[in-house]
Amino acid sequence: MNIAYLNGSYMPAEEIRISPDDRGFLFADGVYEVVRWYQGNFFDMEGHTARLKRSLGELRLEWVGADTFPVISEELIRKNDLEDTPALIYIQVTRGAAPRSHAFPAVQTDPTVYAFARGFDPDPGKYVAGINILMKKDIRWSRCDIKSVSLLPNILCFQEAVETGNSECAFVRDGYITECSHSNIFFLINGILFTHPESENILSGISRRKVINLALKAGLQVNEVAVAEKDIDKVDEAFLTNTSAEVAPVISINKKKIGNGRPGEVTMQLRAMFAAETAILRNHKQTH
Ligand code: PLP
Repeated sequence: MNIAYLNGSYMPAEEIRISPDDRGFLFADGVYEVVRWYQGNFFDMEGHTARLKRSLGELRLEWVGADTFPVISEELIRKNDLEDTPALIYIQVTRGAAPRSHAFPAVQTDPTVYAFARGFDPDPGKYVAGINILMKKDIRWSRCDIKSVSLLPNILCFQEAVETGNSECAFVRDGYITECSHSNIFFLINGILFTHPESENILSGISRRKVINLALKAGLQVNEVAVAEKDIDKVDEAFLTNTSAEVAPVISINKKKIGNGRPGEVTMQLRAMFAAETAILRNHKQTH
């Protein structure tokens, strides 16, 4: 039986009930977070909790229990017998249920906090050959740094990617490549790694930061500088980063080959370095 979390209680997922007046449903007035479980430890739980708290703060959404996210996550892993399985925790916090009005609800309105754990198959094999991605105009709002549940442009772009045989969709804003529907993107040009700087135009990925640190450790020069769409022909390697894929080599964008059309050497080195870090997480199991 799948056990989920709602507002302080753990219960069978099918018993979860959320009001149709919930502002998450009516306005997408909420934030979320996704953290990966590596059979023994979470990946940078501190970083994910800090980002959740930042997103809540930016939306002036108060959840006094935000610091309990790690505890809720561990409980969900335990209650769902996922200790020895690759898994993800999803948490969503909305501004609660209240009569529909654009103004914030009365101060005593409790946020809605919903979380679940899900085992998943990371299937590293699917990245060996590299992935193809689509690239489209970034039609999202101007606060992409907030991990808000308002994801319509991301969904539309990703769906188009799926329907056209691609694995992800990158966004271009004012001529510059920002990020993807649910990943950050890196480019290798003349031996230098480029990725869009932290700004209101991208989500600051936990994996993005990890990869930057790994690249610096490997002696690479990293420029947190956006790459222009017009410079895509200069790109030797490209890859995506996110919580579930870690580092995913990109071999084409809008059907145009990147480099030699195969996963790049630097990309695969960074992918291996990331895997080595997560292997440590697996080997040092916490006691439950
Ligand atoms: N950018 C966007 C828009 C995302 O939704 C995500 C993850 O869902 C990322 C980047 C990657 O973030 P992380 O590495 O923390 O998973």
